[in-house]
Amino acid sequence: MSGFLREAGFTHSLTPARNCTFGCSYCYVPTMRVQGGLKPEDWTHWGHHTTFKSNAAALLRKALRPGQIIYCSPLTDPYQPAEATERLMPGILEALAESPVTPAAFVIQTRGPLILNDLELLQRAARRTRLAVSFSVTTDREDVRRIFEPHCAPVEERWSAIASLRAAGIDVFATLAPILPCDPEALVRRALDATAGPVIADPFHVREVKRSGATTRPAAVSICRHHNWLEWLEPAFQRGVLARMRAIAAEQGRAFAHGPEGFGLLTGPREHTSLPGSLLSWKAVSEVSF
Ligand code: SF4
Repeated sequence: MSGFLREAGFTHSLTPARNCTFGCSYCYVPTMRVQGGLKPEDWTHWGHHTTFKSNAAALLRKALRPGQIIYCSPLTDPYQPAEATERLMPGILEALAESPVTPAAFVIQTRGPLILNDLELLQRAARRTRLAVSFSVTTDREDVRRIFEPHCAPVEERWSAIASLRAAGIDVFATLAPILPCDPEALVRRALDATAGPVIADPFHVREVKRSGATTRPAAVSICRHHNWLEWLEPAFQRGVLARMRAIAAEQGRAFAHGPEGFGLLTGPREHTSLPGSLLSWKAVSEVSF
């Protein structure tokens, strides 16, 4: 598990597939190369194919322990397009719902409205553990979305998925990451309206700020250069955008954070949720490895 997630408070990660056919231009995963458990064909052809770990649910049942705070997934989107036919996530959610041993928390990171196929299973799992969905929305501009992440769902479809998850009683966060060219105030206002808890944001990861580890993929840097959006990669400009977003959240008395602190908000108990589960303090750092 990366230092970023460990710093955020996660103890384990679960990656149900290798490679991700959303193929976002900025995806940091292929820049991790072998550190991400990837093969050369993954990082050189990122987004072109995927390989599901078909025994993930069975292995998860064996690996579950009390106190684990699991992030699913740091290296792929669990609801990438191929999940529509492979259907790996139902088994994973069933494992959470049925195993006699449950983790302290299980966080699903996605941008895929396919998650709505599993609403009932999400509800069942949420009765056994503190389950949260961190739903990525990266911009308020559909033209920008199409340029950076053409294989992902349109912006409005994602807000609609967030609304459906919330209506079903699932603890859902709007995670504005990475922040693509947008109207920052409009984007954060929409996130505040759509959810009840803290809002998490993160600008493009750039080497000037992130001294080690994965950074934004060169394809997104080229897009920024081509469209005169390079300022969105500049640390000072990024800090300004975050400050503007934070100010809007503060006006509404809502928490707003970025980086590991922001993702750490996904791991802790919050008063706005009606779902059961309490976090335990647990220092293990090994990875659930599939
Ligand atoms: S959805 Fe996430 S893991 Fe998949 S390509 Fe996009 S950024 Fe990478």
